[in-house]
Amino acid sequence: MRKRLMLLIIVSCCIVLWIFQSDICTRLLPVKAGEISGLKEEEAIRLPRHLPRGVILMIGDGMGFEHIKATRLSLKNAKLEMEKLPVSGSLTTYSYGGAVTDSAAAATALATGVKTSNGYLGMSPKGILLENVSEVASRTGRRVGLVTTVTVTHATPAAFAVHVNARKDEASIATAMILKRLDLIWGGGYGFFVPEYVSDSLRKDNTDVIKLAKNNGYKLLRKRSEMAQSDSLPSLGLFSRGALNGGKHEPDLAEMTVKAADLLAKDKRGFFLMVEGGKIDWAAHVHDLPGVIREIASFDKAISEAVRFAEARGDVMVLVVADHETGGLDLLDKNGVISADWTTFGHTDRDVPLYGYGPGAKMFAGKHDNTYIGRMLIQYFTTVEKYTKILLSA
Ligand SMILES: [Zn+2]
Repeated sequence: MRKRLMLLIIVSCCIVLWIFQSDICTRLLPVKAGEISGLKEEEAIRLPRHLPRGVILMIGDGMGFEHIKATRLSLKNAKLEMEKLPVSGSLTTYSYGGAVTDSAAAATALATGVKTSNGYLGMSPKGILLENVSEVASRTGRRVGLVTTVTVTHATPAAFAVHVNARKDEASIATAMILKRLDLIWGGGYGFFVPEYVSDSLRKDNTDVIKLAKNNGYKLLRKRSEMAQSDSLPSLGLFSRGALNGGKHEPDLAEMTVKAADLLAKDKRGFFLMVEGGKIDWAAHVHDLPGVIREIASFDKAISEAVRFAEARGDVMVLVVADHETGGLDLLDKNGVISADWTTFGHTDRDVPLYGYGPGAKMFAGKHDNTYIGRMLIQYFTTVEKYTKILLSA
């Protein structure tokens, strides 16, 4: 009898040990607030005990509250998927030394947690290179992916990869981006990756970045069908010469989001995925309200797919933000007829929306500055390193 009892105790101990060593426990990464460096005390206290394994950060470029409202009105006042998420809040967006930010400074704040000057990507106003969330996630063993509807070298995705003070130099950004060894880069901008002598080129030199990418192990995808069948990382998907424009061989943002998340999440160590709806801003710059509504609806569909993916897994956080508001849009009700009143062709200093879903999302609720996103995401991926540091190379 005593022998049986001993055997039972030994077997029980083995089961407990197995559970602690296995995947079940690594799903939940405990963080003790007292051990955290680089965060303000009140922020450290707000960190959840358990962090998500994967983070999908979705950025609506130029998406303000009124743009969302206009889209909702176009859907007979049905709430958008992002508006249905359990966590909501807003972000201030001003850049270093200015009330109104550009996409580069705003994306740098979101990616690094530090304010910088307009035009700067991953670099402080004094030229100090700022470590971004992709680098921290990568350094701590996670898979990293960037997905956009515009060129992959555009300001928003670029801020999650490179360190330059000239956001318009997309050719140089293409080269630098490939050397960052990200696991997945999908969007438009093939022209910035091929040498000048190729007819589709948007470069002014003979650098063959496609060749460089292949030498670094990347598999190149050019079509939606190739993307659907892809099953390996690292992956470079360039589905258009410039920004995506709805061509029949192009994937849409929702398709790219789900497939990218699926590929990245295969690695049990976790992942960080940034997804940009890049053309909301472009439509707002030219006061094209139907275009804004179309782009937000497409972005919202991608959010819906991301949340479905997160729901099915239970260990993924989806965070939706904007980098700034574009156009100064106001919706006016004139005798029951809604009309759009745009106040600028540029960006404004208005606060932008924030929505969240999944483990850890609660701490983003409420009003914050845009740097809070970068600081907290970096904190998600590391508990010991400071959230900014001078890198040895760009
Ligand atoms: Zn922008």
